[in-house]
Amino acid sequence: MEFEVVIGLEVHVQLNTRSKMFCSCPTSFAERQNTNTCPVCLGLPGALPVINREAVKKAILFGRAIEGKINRRSLFNRKNYFYPDLPKGYQISQFEIPIVEEGFLSIEKEDGSKKRIGITRAHLEEDAGKNIHEGEISKVDLNRAGTPLLEIVSEPDMRSSEEAVQYLKKLHAIVRYLDISDANMEEGSFRCDANVSIRPKGDGKLYTRVEIKNLNSFRFIQRAIDYEVERQIEAWEEGVYDDEVVQETRLFDTQKGITKSMRGKEESADYRYFPDPDLPPLTIPESLMKETEEIPELPDQKRERFVEEYGIRPYDASLIVSTKETATFFEEMMAEGITPQNGVTWLTVELAARLNKRNLSIEESPVDSRRLAKLVARIEDKTISNKAAKEVLDYLMDHNVDVDRVIEELGLKQISDSGAIEKLVEEILEANRDKVEEYRAGKEKLFGFFVGQVMKASKGKADPRLVNEILRKKLS
Ligand code: ADP
Ligand code: MG
Ligand code: ZN
Repeated sequence: MEFEVVIGLEVHVQLNTRSKMFCSCPTSFAERQNTNTCPVCLGLPGALPVINREAVKKAILFGRAIEGKINRRSLFNRKNYFYPDLPKGYQISQFEIPIVEEGFLSIEKEDGSKKRIGITRAHLEEDAGKNIHEGEISKVDLNRAGTPLLEIVSEPDMRSSEEAVQYLKKLHAIVRYLDISDANMEEGSFRCDANVSIRPKGDGKLYTRVEIKNLNSFRFIQRAIDYEVERQIEAWEEGVYDDEVVQETRLFDTQKGITKSMRGKEESADYRYFPDPDLPPLTIPESLMKETEEIPELPDQKRERFVEEYGIRPYDASLIVSTKETATFFEEMMAEGITPQNGVTWLTVELAARLNKRNLSIEESPVDSRRLAKLVARIEDKTISNKAAKEVLDYLMDHNVDVDRVIEELGLKQISDSGAIEKLVEEILEANRDKVEEYRAGKEKLFGFFVGQVMKASKGKADPRLVNEILRKKLS
């Protein structure tokens, strides 16, 4: 039997506001434990929450980016559960009426076509604190308690782990472009739970899903989903599907690469949701709608503009816009007036490979956009060859110096003086008279040999175009 994979994702994005969701405490966690707290986020009796306007604004920006419906009136609810890092005994969240509903984003499939992934809703809520376990003792740090979160819930529209990762990467890029979150997966400001089920191909029904938690990298998400799909298919094929695939929460064990049952899945009724009597319904004033009318350029738009404006290939454009930092780097290079295709190559091939090798991101690149552009400009104005430029870039990765100085010091200046090249050519032809005769007798393959010899004699510095030109003239 053939199976179809069904995946829906829930993503918690920590909003990068300066203060918390319902109080004025700072949202930074670097400080000493339990110092960024106040009666509101400590859940002391009588303390009253106040909605953070900036968080609301960021949620609206997101809603606009996914072309969703912005509810001008939404509600805050109490979601009741007990856990030591939740001092009030409930989390303030949104339930029946979230601030954003019915949006979508597009992912690019391998064949270049697009697929829409529906976004059911995005709602505002507050984060919990952190439990810290140190040997025999456990501590609670409430610095994070009350940090604004936007929970983004997708439709069960994804059909493979690859699609799930593509969706997440697109979502990640969007929140970064909007500057509503740092979206740092390792630090937990972009957290994902994956809901996974299978069904016989062609069946329209949704089967039992499990929810996998603790996924803090794109690689783990893909591996966890793949494992889970295999587990469910195996259970089906062995006739034990109903026993082994139950609605539950599973944890991904990154060491073993497997998912393990953590607890039965709670139903929403378990949480006893009810409207928070301390908070009025959230009504969005016209002024806030106006303020959010214009949103920053998003990856899809930027990609189209790059193709249009610079004439680069859609594939290259996708690579470049996949993170905001790379896109900015590329645009800064373009501002230096170099040829777009060269910019693409030196950014996405040459620099990318060197960063990769050192495990550095583009933000950490030792060579900034201006210096890389200058290097490209030196190829374009024929000061150095392509090959020499690679050597210069290698050097720049370790030395913070000017491009022209490196070219000078490494003695890489290209010889584009035709007199000098002519002399080299004559010397080579003189030293290889036998081959010259063979060439003239019809062995044209030897042309490459002559080019190689001249280049070698010039220590790689002769302008290859000139070498070719002069050789042809002399040999004919
Ligand atoms: P809850 O809030 O209890 O986790 P929701 O109904 O809000 O449940 O769904 C959470 C996520 O699970 C959504 O992203 C949804 O698309 C996804 N989902 C729902 N049913 C399935 C299913 N059968 N298979 C895969 N994903 C599913
Ligand atoms: Mg859930
Ligand atoms: Zn506080």
